[in-house]
Amino acid sequence: MDLEKTLLRKVGEAVHRFKMIRAGDRIAVAVSGGKDSITLLEALILLQKRAPIDFSVCAFTVEQGKFLRPVGPVGEYIHSLGVDWTYHTDNPSIRLLTEKPDHGCDLCSRFRRRAVYQIAHGMGANVIAFGHTADDFCESLLRNILYTGRLSSLPPVTYSRERDFRLIRPLVYVTEEITRGFVESKGVPVVPCGCSLRTGTVRRGIRETIADWEIEHPHLRENILSAMGNIQHGRLLDTRYLDTEESESETEISGSELLPILTES
Ligand code: SF4
Repeated sequence: MDLEKTLLRKVGEAVHRFKMIRAGDRIAVAVSGGKDSITLLEALILLQKRAPIDFSVCAFTVEQGKFLRPVGPVGEYIHSLGVDWTYHTDNPSIRLLTEKPDHGCDLCSRFRRRAVYQIAHGMGANVIAFGHTADDFCESLLRNILYTGRLSSLPPVTYSRERDFRLIRPLVYVTEEITRGFVESKGVPVVPCGCSLRTGTVRRGIRETIADWEIEHPHLRENILSAMGNIQHGRLLDTRYLDTEESESETEISGSELLPILTES
């Protein structure tokens, strides 16, 4: 498989389908130090060279005290691509580590979000790109269904609360097999975050379950992604999307669908 071609095709599809990029955009890529976000940066640079519209790309990294190695080599690599890179130490996050060492993800991501907006603003960006992959979208959907009772995942495109930034996730169709293969083939430096080594987390459990299921059903993630783009409102339980007045006359209910209800009582 030509990884660069596959990456570009999948990112192009996402950018086109969700109208992620417009002429004149300045896109700040949130580089976390891991394989996904640096792959995203490279994909956007490739896309920039081929796109019929002009847009610019820059990158930044937020230091929250969790990197397991110095991030200097990542910055040098980004500079070698001809891209502006801002490295920002977020002091409130560093204090959080000493004051509340067992803090949860909610607090950590709230601190990061604040820093991300400040940095993107300073870089003159109007768009912020995050490296969430197809795997993240699938895990997020299952996590929300199983643990929060919501049918929801990550938005491929959305806006910051004040609507001053468009937030995009162009790797929605790119799996981590692709990002892993891409960074390995190019020798891109990556810096792991301490949290990535955590075991026993819900996220890791779901990830391992999907990997187990995929041994027998290799297209599972593709099907989950496809399901997110093919919602049948009338076959779910949210009354906001049901025509409850007309449902009996308009919906055909087959005998096999009634059976579990009839046999329960
Ligand atoms: S996994 Fe770690 S770095 Fe990521 S949000 Fe949670 S606490 Fe923060």
